Amino acid sequence: MTEKNSDALRKLDELRGSLDGLGHLIGGEIVRGTATFTVTAPWIDEPLGESPEAQEAELEAAVRAARAAQPAWAATSGEERTAILLSIADAIEANAERIGDVLAAETGKPLRIARGEPMGAAAHIRYFAALEPAEEVIKDDDVERIIVVREPLGVVASITPWNGPLLMLANKVATALRCGNTVVAKPSPFTPFSSLLFGEIVRDLVPAGVINVIAGGDAIGQALTQHPEVDMVSFTGSIRAGQAITAQSAEGLKRLQLELGGNDAAVVLPDVDVDEVAERIYRGAFALSGQICAAIKRLYVHEDIIDDLTDALVEIAERQQLGSPWDPETTMGPLTTRPQYERVLGLINNAVDGGATLRTGGETIEHGGFFITPAIVTGVDHGVPLVDEEQFGPALPIMSFTDVEEVLERVNGTQYGLGGSVWSQDIDQAVAIARRIESGSAWINRHPHVGADVPFGGMKLSGVGREGGPESYEEFTAAKTISILK
Ligand code: NAD
Repeated sequence: MTEKNSDALRKLDELRGSLDGLGHLIGGEIVRGTATFTVTAPWIDEPLGESPEAQEAELEAAVRAARAAQPAWAATSGEERTAILLSIADAIEANAERIGDVLAAETGKPLRIARGEPMGAAAHIRYFAALEPAEEVIKDDDVERIIVVREPLGVVASITPWNGPLLMLANKVATALRCGNTVVAKPSPFTPFSSLLFGEIVRDLVPAGVINVIAGGDAIGQALTQHPEVDMVSFTGSIRAGQAITAQSAEGLKRLQLELGGNDAAVVLPDVDVDEVAERIYRGAFALSGQICAAIKRLYVHEDIIDDLTDALVEIAERQQLGSPWDPETTMGPLTTRPQYERVLGLINNAVDGGATLRTGGETIEHGGFFITPAIVTGVDHGVPLVDEEQFGPALPIMSFTDVEEVLERVNGTQYGLGGSVWSQDIDQAVAIARRIESGSAWINRHPHVGADVPFGGMKLSGVGREGGPESYEEFTAAKTISILK
Protein backbone atom coordinates (compact mmCIF):
# COMPACT_ATOMS: atom_id res chain seq x y z
CA MET A 1 0.00 0.00 0.00
CA THR A 2 1.33 3.40 -0.93
CA GLU A 3 1.58 6.29 1.55
CA LYS A 4 -1.19 8.00 -0.36
CA ASN A 5 -3.51 5.08 0.19
CA SER A 6 -3.02 4.99 3.94
CA ASP A 7 -3.71 8.74 4.16
CA ALA A 8 -6.82 8.29 2.09
CA LEU A 9 -8.02 5.39 4.26
CA ARG A 10 -7.57 7.51 7.39
CA LYS A 11 -9.62 10.28 5.79
CA LEU A 12 -12.30 7.77 4.85
CA ASP A 13 -12.67 6.67 8.50
CA GLU A 14 -12.99 10.28 9.57
CA LEU A 15 -15.70 11.00 6.99
CA ARG A 16 -17.82 7.93 7.54
CA GLY A 17 -18.97 9.02 10.99
CA SER A 18 -19.99 12.48 9.81
CA LEU A 19 -22.34 11.16 7.12
CA ASP A 20 -24.23 8.60 9.18
CA GLY A 21 -26.76 10.98 10.72
CA LEU A 22 -27.95 12.50 7.45
CA GLY A 23 -31.58 11.86 6.53
CA HIS A 24 -34.28 12.92 4.07
CA LEU A 25 -35.88 16.31 4.68
CA ILE A 26 -39.63 15.79 4.60
CA GLY A 27 -42.14 18.38 5.81
CA GLY A 28 -39.50 20.12 7.92
CA GLU A 29 -38.36 16.90 9.66
CA ILE A 30 -35.16 14.91 9.16
CA VAL A 31 -36.32 11.36 8.46
CA ARG A 32 -33.92 8.42 8.30
CA GLY A 33 -36.58 5.94 7.08
CA THR A 34 -36.27 2.19 7.00
CA ALA A 35 -34.05 1.42 4.00
CA THR A 36 -30.49 2.41 3.13
CA PHE A 37 -28.01 1.94 0.29
CA THR A 38 -24.23 2.06 0.22
CA VAL A 39 -22.42 4.95 -1.43
CA THR A 40 -18.87 4.34 -2.74
CA ALA A 41 -15.94 6.75 -2.36
CA PRO A 42 -14.68 6.89 -5.96
CA TRP A 43 -11.16 8.05 -5.02
CA ILE A 44 -10.47 4.79 -3.16
CA ASP A 45 -13.27 2.40 -4.22
CA GLU A 46 -14.38 1.74 -0.65
CA PRO A 47 -17.78 2.22 1.01
CA LEU A 48 -18.19 5.85 2.04
CA GLY A 49 -21.44 5.60 3.95
CA GLU A 50 -25.02 4.42 4.10
CA SER A 51 -27.54 6.80 2.57
CA PRO A 52 -31.20 6.59 3.54
CA GLU A 53 -33.25 5.25 0.62
CA ALA A 54 -36.71 6.71 0.13
CA GLN A 55 -39.55 4.24 -0.27
CA GLU A 56 -43.10 4.87 -1.53
CA ALA A 57 -44.13 6.16 1.93
CA GLU A 58 -41.38 8.79 2.09
CA LEU A 59 -42.02 9.89 -1.49
CA GLU A 60 -45.73 10.26 -0.73
CA ALA A 61 -45.03 12.22 2.46
CA ALA A 62 -42.58 14.53 0.67
CA VAL A 63 -44.95 15.31 -2.21
CA ARG A 64 -47.85 15.80 0.23
CA ALA A 65 -45.76 18.19 2.34
CA ALA A 66 -44.71 20.17 -0.75
CA ARG A 67 -48.30 20.35 -1.96
CA ALA A 68 -49.61 21.47 1.44
CA ALA A 69 -46.96 24.16 1.79
CA GLN A 70 -47.31 25.60 -1.71
CA PRO A 71 -50.33 27.94 -1.43
CA ALA A 72 -48.95 29.75 1.62
CA TRP A 73 -45.50 29.93 0.03
CA ALA A 74 -46.96 31.39 -3.19
CA ALA A 75 -48.86 33.93 -1.09
CA THR A 76 -45.67 35.34 0.45
CA SER A 77 -44.37 38.47 -1.23
CA GLY A 78 -41.52 38.36 -3.71
CA GLU A 79 -39.43 40.33 -1.22
CA GLU A 80 -40.01 37.71 1.50
CA ARG A 81 -38.98 34.92 -0.83
CA THR A 82 -35.91 36.87 -1.88
CA ALA A 83 -34.95 37.39 1.76
CA ILE A 84 -35.32 33.69 2.55
CA LEU A 85 -33.25 32.70 -0.47
CA LEU A 86 -30.54 35.14 0.55
CA SER A 87 -30.48 33.55 4.01
CA ILE A 88 -30.05 30.15 2.32
CA ALA A 89 -27.14 31.53 0.26
CA ASP A 90 -25.52 32.86 3.44
CA ALA A 91 -25.94 29.51 5.19
CA ILE A 92 -24.44 27.59 2.26
CA GLU A 93 -21.48 29.93 2.24
CA ALA A 94 -21.04 29.67 6.02
CA ASN A 95 -20.97 25.86 5.67
CA ALA A 96 -18.86 25.80 2.49
CA GLU A 97 -16.02 23.88 4.08
CA ARG A 98 -18.23 21.14 5.49
CA ILE A 99 -20.28 20.82 2.29
CA GLY A 100 -17.08 20.92 0.19
CA ASP A 101 -15.63 18.01 2.17
CA VAL A 102 -18.77 15.96 1.57
CA LEU A 103 -18.75 16.83 -2.15
CA ALA A 104 -15.09 15.85 -2.42
CA ALA A 105 -15.78 12.58 -0.63
CA GLU A 106 -18.71 11.53 -2.80
CA THR A 107 -17.59 12.88 -6.22
CA GLY A 108 -13.79 12.55 -5.86
CA LYS A 109 -13.18 16.08 -7.18
CA PRO A 110 -10.11 17.81 -5.72
CA LEU A 111 -10.88 19.54 -2.42
CA ARG A 112 -10.17 23.05 -3.72
CA ILE A 113 -12.74 22.57 -6.48
CA ALA A 114 -15.23 20.85 -4.19
CA ARG A 115 -15.06 23.70 -1.70
CA GLY A 116 -15.63 26.16 -4.54
CA GLU A 117 -18.93 24.49 -5.47
CA PRO A 118 -20.90 25.75 -2.43
CA MET A 119 -19.52 29.24 -3.04
CA GLY A 120 -20.72 29.04 -6.65
CA ALA A 121 -24.07 27.67 -5.48
CA ALA A 122 -24.49 30.58 -3.05
CA ALA A 123 -23.74 33.07 -5.83
CA HIS A 124 -26.28 31.39 -8.10
CA ILE A 125 -28.92 31.41 -5.35
CA ARG A 126 -28.35 35.15 -4.89
CA TYR A 127 -28.88 35.74 -8.61
CA PHE A 128 -32.13 33.76 -8.67
CA ALA A 129 -33.26 35.42 -5.42
CA ALA A 130 -33.17 38.77 -7.22
CA LEU A 131 -35.17 37.65 -10.28
CA GLU A 132 -38.25 39.74 -10.92
CA PRO A 133 -41.32 38.43 -12.73
CA ALA A 134 -41.80 39.96 -16.13
CA GLU A 135 -45.37 41.28 -15.91
CA GLU A 136 -46.26 42.59 -19.31
CA VAL A 137 -49.02 44.91 -20.51
CA ILE A 138 -49.52 43.69 -24.05
CA LYS A 139 -52.42 45.99 -24.95
CA ASP A 140 -53.84 49.13 -23.42
CA ASP A 141 -56.21 51.20 -25.56
CA ASP A 142 -59.66 52.74 -25.30
CA VAL A 143 -61.35 49.33 -25.50
CA GLU A 144 -59.30 47.01 -23.37
CA ARG A 145 -56.27 46.42 -21.19
CA ILE A 146 -54.56 43.04 -21.40
CA ILE A 147 -51.85 42.00 -18.97
CA VAL A 148 -49.79 38.81 -18.89
CA VAL A 149 -48.72 37.82 -15.38
CA ARG A 150 -46.67 34.84 -14.23
CA GLU A 151 -48.13 32.24 -11.86
CA PRO A 152 -46.21 29.52 -9.99
CA LEU A 153 -46.72 25.99 -11.31
CA GLY A 154 -47.06 24.24 -7.93
CA VAL A 155 -44.79 21.38 -6.87
CA VAL A 156 -41.48 21.02 -8.74
CA ALA A 157 -39.51 17.76 -8.80
CA SER A 158 -35.77 18.47 -8.96
CA ILE A 159 -33.76 15.48 -10.22
CA THR A 160 -30.00 15.87 -10.44
CA PRO A 161 -26.88 13.95 -11.58
CA TRP A 162 -23.58 13.29 -9.81
CA ASN A 163 -21.11 15.69 -11.42
CA GLY A 164 -22.19 18.99 -9.82
CA PRO A 165 -24.67 17.81 -7.21
CA LEU A 166 -24.94 20.94 -5.10
CA LEU A 167 -24.74 23.54 -7.85
CA MET A 168 -27.51 21.95 -9.85
CA LEU A 169 -29.71 21.44 -6.80
CA ALA A 170 -29.19 25.09 -5.82
CA ASN A 171 -30.14 26.35 -9.30
CA LYS A 172 -33.34 24.36 -9.38
CA VAL A 173 -34.43 25.03 -5.80
CA ALA A 174 -33.68 28.75 -5.92
CA THR A 175 -35.51 29.37 -9.21
CA ALA A 176 -38.49 27.23 -8.21
CA LEU A 177 -38.84 28.92 -4.82
CA ARG A 178 -38.41 32.48 -6.11
CA CYS A 179 -41.28 31.82 -8.53
CA GLY A 180 -43.57 30.60 -5.70
CA ASN A 181 -43.24 26.85 -6.18
CA THR A 182 -42.28 24.25 -3.59
CA VAL A 183 -39.78 21.46 -4.26
CA VAL A 184 -39.16 17.76 -3.83
CA ALA A 185 -35.51 17.15 -4.73
CA LYS A 186 -33.94 13.78 -5.53
CA PRO A 187 -30.18 13.71 -6.01
CA SER A 188 -28.18 11.02 -7.82
CA PRO A 189 -27.77 7.80 -5.82
CA PHE A 190 -24.01 8.10 -6.42
CA THR A 191 -23.80 11.45 -4.61
CA PRO A 192 -26.72 11.86 -2.20
CA PHE A 193 -24.92 13.20 0.87
CA SER A 194 -24.32 16.80 -0.23
CA SER A 195 -28.01 17.20 -1.07
CA LEU A 196 -29.08 15.65 2.25
CA LEU A 197 -26.69 18.02 4.01
CA PHE A 198 -28.22 20.91 2.05
CA GLY A 199 -31.61 19.79 3.40
CA GLU A 200 -30.29 19.80 6.95
CA ILE A 201 -28.84 23.30 6.50
CA VAL A 202 -31.99 24.87 4.99
CA ARG A 203 -34.42 23.05 7.25
CA ASP A 204 -34.98 25.94 9.65
CA LEU A 205 -34.72 28.66 7.01
CA VAL A 206 -37.89 27.83 5.05
CA PRO A 207 -41.42 26.95 6.19
CA ALA A 208 -41.90 23.19 6.61
CA GLY A 209 -42.60 21.46 3.29
CA VAL A 210 -41.25 24.20 1.03
CA ILE A 211 -38.04 22.24 0.39
CA ASN A 212 -38.03 18.45 0.67
CA VAL A 213 -35.03 16.27 -0.17
CA ILE A 214 -35.29 12.51 -0.59
CA ALA A 215 -32.45 10.18 -1.58
CA GLY A 216 -32.87 7.11 -3.72
CA GLY A 217 -32.30 5.51 -7.09
CA ASP A 218 -33.83 5.79 -10.54
CA ALA A 219 -37.04 3.98 -9.54
CA ILE A 220 -37.96 6.53 -6.89
CA GLY A 221 -37.07 9.26 -9.41
CA GLN A 222 -39.49 7.65 -11.83
CA ALA A 223 -42.23 7.47 -9.19
CA LEU A 224 -41.64 11.15 -8.39
CA THR A 225 -42.03 12.22 -12.03
CA GLN A 226 -45.23 10.17 -12.32
CA HIS A 227 -46.81 11.50 -9.13
CA PRO A 228 -50.07 13.28 -9.96
CA GLU A 229 -49.32 16.06 -7.45
CA VAL A 230 -46.04 17.00 -9.18
CA ASP A 231 -46.54 19.84 -11.68
CA MET A 232 -43.07 20.26 -13.13
CA VAL A 233 -39.92 18.17 -13.52
CA SER A 234 -36.64 20.05 -13.64
CA PHE A 235 -34.13 17.41 -14.64
CA THR A 236 -30.41 17.36 -15.32
CA GLY A 237 -28.87 14.10 -16.47
CA SER A 238 -28.57 11.71 -19.37
CA ILE A 239 -30.54 11.77 -22.61
CA ARG A 240 -31.75 8.24 -21.86
CA ALA A 241 -33.33 9.34 -18.56
CA GLY A 242 -34.63 12.57 -20.13
CA GLN A 243 -36.47 10.55 -22.75
CA ALA A 244 -37.85 8.21 -20.07
CA ILE A 245 -39.05 11.18 -18.01
CA THR A 246 -40.77 12.67 -21.05
CA ALA A 247 -42.69 9.44 -21.54
CA GLN A 248 -43.33 8.92 -17.82
CA SER A 249 -44.78 12.36 -17.25
CA ALA A 250 -46.91 12.42 -20.41
CA GLU A 251 -50.13 11.47 -18.66
CA GLY A 252 -49.92 14.44 -16.32
CA LEU A 253 -48.72 16.78 -19.14
CA LYS A 254 -46.18 18.15 -16.69
CA ARG A 255 -43.93 21.09 -17.45
CA LEU A 256 -40.50 19.72 -18.32
CA GLN A 257 -37.11 21.36 -18.17
CA LEU A 258 -34.50 18.88 -19.35
CA GLU A 259 -30.77 19.60 -19.26
CA LEU A 260 -29.27 16.57 -20.97
CA GLY A 261 -26.03 15.24 -22.34
CA GLY A 262 -23.85 16.79 -25.01
CA ASN A 263 -21.09 15.91 -27.43
CA ASP A 264 -19.67 19.39 -27.86
CA ALA A 265 -17.32 20.18 -30.70
CA ALA A 266 -14.58 22.80 -30.59
CA VAL A 267 -13.32 24.11 -33.94
CA VAL A 268 -9.83 25.62 -33.91
CA LEU A 269 -8.96 27.88 -36.86
CA PRO A 270 -5.36 28.19 -38.13
CA ASP A 271 -4.85 31.78 -36.92
CA VAL A 272 -4.82 30.97 -33.17
CA ASP A 273 -1.73 31.34 -31.03
CA VAL A 274 -1.34 27.67 -30.03
CA ASP A 275 0.56 28.41 -26.80
CA GLU A 276 -2.06 30.90 -25.77
CA VAL A 277 -5.13 28.67 -26.30
CA ALA A 278 -3.76 25.21 -25.42
CA GLU A 279 -4.27 25.48 -21.66
CA ARG A 280 -7.82 26.80 -22.07
CA ILE A 281 -8.73 24.07 -24.57
CA TYR A 282 -7.22 21.47 -22.24
CA ARG A 283 -9.32 22.68 -19.31
CA GLY A 284 -12.40 22.82 -21.54
CA ALA A 285 -12.00 19.12 -22.24
CA PHE A 286 -10.56 17.74 -19.01
CA ALA A 287 -11.83 19.88 -16.10
CA LEU A 288 -13.58 17.64 -13.57
CA SER A 289 -11.98 14.70 -15.40
CA GLY A 290 -14.16 15.49 -18.41
CA GLN A 291 -17.36 14.97 -16.43
CA ILE A 292 -19.02 18.19 -17.52
CA CYS A 293 -22.06 18.15 -19.77
CA ALA A 294 -20.67 20.97 -21.91
CA ALA A 295 -17.02 19.90 -21.91
CA ILE A 296 -15.15 19.81 -25.23
CA LYS A 297 -15.77 16.24 -26.37
CA ARG A 298 -14.64 16.46 -30.00
CA LEU A 299 -11.76 18.68 -31.08
CA TYR A 300 -11.47 19.71 -34.75
CA VAL A 301 -8.17 21.45 -35.49
CA HIS A 302 -7.07 23.01 -38.78
CA GLU A 303 -4.42 20.80 -40.37
CA ASP A 304 -1.83 23.64 -40.34
CA ILE A 305 -1.66 23.63 -36.54
CA ILE A 306 -2.92 20.19 -35.51
CA ASP A 307 0.55 18.82 -34.72
CA ASP A 308 1.54 21.80 -32.58
CA LEU A 309 -1.73 21.91 -30.68
CA THR A 310 -1.77 18.15 -30.11
CA ASP A 311 1.80 18.27 -28.75
CA ALA A 312 0.86 21.14 -26.42
CA LEU A 313 -2.20 19.26 -25.11
CA VAL A 314 -0.17 16.08 -24.57
CA GLU A 315 2.39 18.08 -22.61
CA ILE A 316 -0.32 19.56 -20.35
CA ALA A 317 -1.98 16.15 -19.88
CA GLU A 318 1.32 14.61 -18.78
CA ARG A 319 1.76 17.29 -16.12
CA GLN A 320 -1.45 16.29 -14.28
CA GLN A 321 -1.27 14.80 -10.84
CA LEU A 322 -4.02 12.25 -10.24
CA GLY A 323 -4.90 11.53 -6.66
CA SER A 324 -7.35 11.69 -3.80
CA PRO A 325 -9.20 14.94 -3.11
CA TRP A 326 -7.29 15.29 0.17
CA ASP A 327 -3.83 15.38 -1.39
CA PRO A 328 -2.98 19.07 -2.01
CA GLU A 329 -0.89 18.09 -5.03
CA THR A 330 -3.86 16.53 -6.83
CA THR A 331 -4.89 18.38 -9.98
CA MET A 332 -7.24 15.72 -11.32
CA GLY A 333 -9.67 13.38 -9.59
CA PRO A 334 -11.19 10.04 -10.55
CA LEU A 335 -14.35 9.29 -12.45
CA THR A 336 -17.20 9.57 -9.97
CA THR A 337 -18.87 6.24 -10.67
CA ARG A 338 -17.68 2.75 -11.51
CA PRO A 339 -20.06 2.40 -14.50
CA GLN A 340 -18.71 5.66 -15.93
CA TYR A 341 -15.10 4.54 -15.32
CA GLU A 342 -15.74 1.27 -17.15
CA ARG A 343 -17.56 3.02 -19.97
CA VAL A 344 -14.77 5.54 -20.61
CA LEU A 345 -12.09 2.83 -20.53
CA GLY A 346 -14.22 0.84 -22.97
CA LEU A 347 -14.52 3.78 -25.37
CA ILE A 348 -10.75 4.40 -25.32
CA ASN A 349 -9.89 0.73 -25.83
CA ASN A 350 -12.46 0.39 -28.59
CA ALA A 351 -10.94 3.37 -30.46
CA VAL A 352 -7.41 1.98 -30.07
CA ASP A 353 -8.51 -1.50 -31.17
CA GLY A 354 -9.96 0.16 -34.27
CA GLY A 355 -6.61 1.70 -35.17
CA ALA A 356 -6.60 5.03 -33.30
CA THR A 357 -3.40 6.36 -31.74
CA LEU A 358 -3.34 6.97 -28.01
CA ARG A 359 -0.92 9.89 -27.80
CA THR A 360 -0.97 9.80 -24.02
CA GLY A 361 -3.02 8.55 -21.06
CA GLY A 362 -5.92 6.15 -20.99
CA GLU A 363 -4.30 4.21 -18.17
CA THR A 364 -5.63 3.22 -14.78
CA ILE A 365 -3.46 3.94 -11.74
CA GLU A 366 -2.65 2.24 -8.47
CA HIS A 367 -4.47 4.56 -6.06
CA GLY A 368 -7.40 2.17 -5.73
CA GLY A 369 -10.07 4.43 -7.21
CA PHE A 370 -11.74 5.07 -10.56
CA PHE A 371 -8.75 6.92 -12.03
CA ILE A 372 -7.96 7.19 -15.74
CA THR A 373 -5.01 9.31 -16.89
CA PRO A 374 -6.08 12.02 -19.39
CA ALA A 375 -6.24 10.39 -22.80
CA ILE A 376 -5.50 12.20 -26.05
CA VAL A 377 -6.54 10.21 -29.07
CA THR A 378 -5.69 10.91 -32.72
CA GLY A 379 -6.33 9.00 -35.92
CA VAL A 380 -10.05 8.72 -35.18
CA ASP A 381 -13.10 10.00 -37.00
CA HIS A 382 -16.86 9.78 -37.11
CA GLY A 383 -18.10 6.21 -36.97
CA VAL A 384 -16.05 5.52 -33.83
CA PRO A 385 -18.10 5.58 -30.58
CA LEU A 386 -15.48 7.80 -28.85
CA VAL A 387 -16.34 10.48 -31.43
CA ASP A 388 -20.03 9.76 -32.02
CA GLU A 389 -21.14 9.35 -28.39
CA GLU A 390 -20.81 11.41 -25.24
CA GLN A 391 -17.76 10.05 -23.38
CA PHE A 392 -18.25 12.22 -20.25
CA GLY A 393 -14.73 11.42 -19.12
CA PRO A 394 -11.03 12.21 -19.61
CA ALA A 395 -10.61 11.19 -23.26
CA LEU A 396 -10.37 13.68 -26.10
CA PRO A 397 -10.48 12.69 -29.78
CA ILE A 398 -8.63 15.18 -32.01
CA MET A 399 -9.45 15.41 -35.72
CA SER A 400 -8.12 17.64 -38.49
CA PHE A 401 -9.95 19.74 -41.08
CA THR A 402 -9.09 22.09 -43.91
CA ASP A 403 -12.44 23.46 -45.00
CA VAL A 404 -14.90 25.28 -42.73
CA GLU A 405 -18.01 24.10 -44.62
CA GLU A 406 -16.88 20.51 -44.36
CA VAL A 407 -16.08 20.75 -40.66
CA LEU A 408 -19.45 22.35 -39.93
CA GLU A 409 -21.12 19.38 -41.53
CA ARG A 410 -19.21 17.07 -39.20
CA VAL A 411 -19.87 19.27 -36.15
CA ASN A 412 -23.61 19.33 -36.84
CA GLY A 413 -23.92 15.72 -37.99
CA THR A 414 -25.10 14.56 -34.58
CA GLN A 415 -28.23 14.33 -32.46
CA TYR A 416 -26.51 16.29 -29.67
CA GLY A 417 -26.81 20.07 -29.45
CA LEU A 418 -25.65 21.35 -26.08
CA GLY A 419 -22.63 23.59 -26.72
CA GLY A 420 -19.87 24.25 -29.20
CA SER A 421 -16.99 26.65 -29.69
CA VAL A 422 -14.85 28.37 -32.31
CA TRP A 423 -11.28 29.45 -31.62
CA SER A 424 -9.80 32.24 -33.72
CA GLN A 425 -8.35 35.74 -33.58
CA ASP A 426 -10.86 36.79 -36.23
CA ILE A 427 -13.91 37.35 -34.04
CA ASP A 428 -16.27 38.19 -36.92
CA GLN A 429 -15.44 34.98 -38.72
CA ALA A 430 -15.68 33.00 -35.47
CA VAL A 431 -19.11 34.44 -34.67
CA ALA A 432 -20.32 33.68 -38.20
CA ILE A 433 -19.27 30.04 -37.73
CA ALA A 434 -20.64 29.89 -34.17
CA ARG A 435 -24.06 31.00 -35.40
CA ARG A 436 -24.14 27.95 -37.64
CA ILE A 437 -23.37 25.43 -34.89
CA GLU A 438 -26.62 23.69 -33.97
CA SER A 439 -26.41 24.03 -30.19
CA GLY A 440 -27.97 25.90 -27.28
CA SER A 441 -24.69 27.76 -26.61
CA ALA A 442 -21.75 28.58 -28.87
CA TRP A 443 -18.66 30.15 -27.38
CA ILE A 444 -15.76 32.03 -28.92
CA ASN A 445 -12.28 31.38 -27.49
CA ARG A 446 -13.78 29.76 -24.38
CA HIS A 447 -15.55 26.48 -23.70
CA PRO A 448 -17.69 26.07 -21.70
CA HIS A 449 -19.02 29.21 -20.14
CA VAL A 450 -22.02 28.98 -17.84
CA GLY A 451 -23.38 31.16 -15.07
CA ALA A 452 -26.63 31.86 -13.26
CA ASP A 453 -27.15 34.98 -15.37
CA VAL A 454 -26.58 33.20 -18.71
CA PRO A 455 -29.32 31.08 -20.34
CA PHE A 456 -28.03 27.54 -20.82
CA GLY A 457 -29.63 24.46 -22.34
CA GLY A 458 -29.72 22.18 -25.33
CA MET A 459 -31.07 21.84 -28.82
CA LYS A 460 -31.90 18.50 -30.49
CA LEU A 461 -31.56 15.63 -27.95
CA SER A 462 -29.54 17.76 -25.51
CA GLY A 463 -32.59 19.17 -23.84
CA VAL A 464 -35.69 21.24 -23.52
CA GLY A 465 -35.86 24.65 -21.86
CA ARG A 466 -33.19 26.92 -20.43
CA GLU A 467 -31.62 27.26 -17.00
CA GLY A 468 -30.12 30.59 -15.99
CA GLY A 469 -30.78 34.15 -17.01
CA PRO A 470 -34.08 35.99 -16.86
CA GLU A 471 -35.69 33.22 -18.94
CA SER A 472 -35.54 30.98 -15.87
CA TYR A 473 -38.61 32.75 -14.54
CA GLU A 474 -40.60 31.64 -17.56
CA GLU A 475 -39.54 28.02 -17.15
CA PHE A 476 -40.83 27.81 -13.58
CA THR A 477 -44.09 29.75 -14.05
CA ALA A 478 -47.17 29.71 -16.26
CA ALA A 479 -48.23 32.77 -18.23
CA LYS A 480 -51.69 33.96 -17.25
CA THR A 481 -53.62 36.50 -19.29
CA ILE A 482 -55.80 39.05 -17.51
CA SER A 483 -58.10 40.78 -19.98
CA ILE A 484 -60.10 43.86 -18.94
CA LEU A 485 -62.88 45.29 -21.08
CA LYS A 486 -62.96 49.00 -20.47
P1 NAD B 1 -28.68 9.85 -15.18
O1 NAD B 1 -29.64 10.32 -16.19
O2 NAD B 1 -28.36 8.41 -15.12
O3 NAD B 1 -29.18 10.23 -13.71
C1 NAD B 1 -29.53 11.55 -13.36
C2 NAD B 1 -30.61 11.52 -12.32
O4 NAD B 1 -31.80 11.00 -12.89
C3 NAD B 1 -30.32 10.64 -11.12
O5 NAD B 1 -30.80 11.29 -9.97
C4 NAD B 1 -31.10 9.38 -11.42
O6 NAD B 1 -31.45 8.64 -10.27
C5 NAD B 1 -32.32 9.95 -12.09
N1 NAD B 1 -33.04 9.06 -13.00
C6 NAD B 1 -32.53 8.13 -13.83
N2 NAD B 1 -33.52 7.54 -14.55
C7 NAD B 1 -34.68 8.15 -14.18
C8 NAD B 1 -36.03 8.01 -14.57
N3 NAD B 1 -36.41 7.13 -15.51
N4 NAD B 1 -36.96 8.81 -13.99
C9 NAD B 1 -36.60 9.73 -13.08
N5 NAD B 1 -35.32 9.89 -12.65
C10 NAD B 1 -34.37 9.12 -13.20
O7 NAD B 1 -27.38 10.75 -15.41
P2 NAD B 1 -26.00 10.72 -14.66
O8 NAD B 1 -25.26 9.52 -15.14
O9 NAD B 1 -26.23 10.90 -13.20
O10 NAD B 1 -25.31 12.05 -15.20
C11 NAD B 1 -24.53 12.11 -16.34
C12 NAD B 1 -25.32 12.70 -17.50
O11 NAD B 1 -25.85 13.95 -17.12
C13 NAD B 1 -24.44 12.98 -18.69
O12 NAD B 1 -25.11 12.59 -19.87
C14 NAD B 1 -24.30 14.49 -18.68
O13 NAD B 1 -24.03 15.07 -19.92
C15 NAD B 1 -25.61 14.91 -18.14
N6 NAD B 1 -25.52 16.27 -17.58
C16 NAD B 1 -26.15 17.29 -18.24
C17 NAD B 1 -26.04 18.58 -17.77
C18 NAD B 1 -26.71 19.74 -18.47
O14 NAD B 1 -26.87 20.79 -17.86
N7 NAD B 1 -27.09 19.62 -19.71
C19 NAD B 1 -25.30 18.82 -16.61
C20 NAD B 1 -24.68 17.77 -15.96
C21 NAD B 1 -24.81 16.48 -16.46
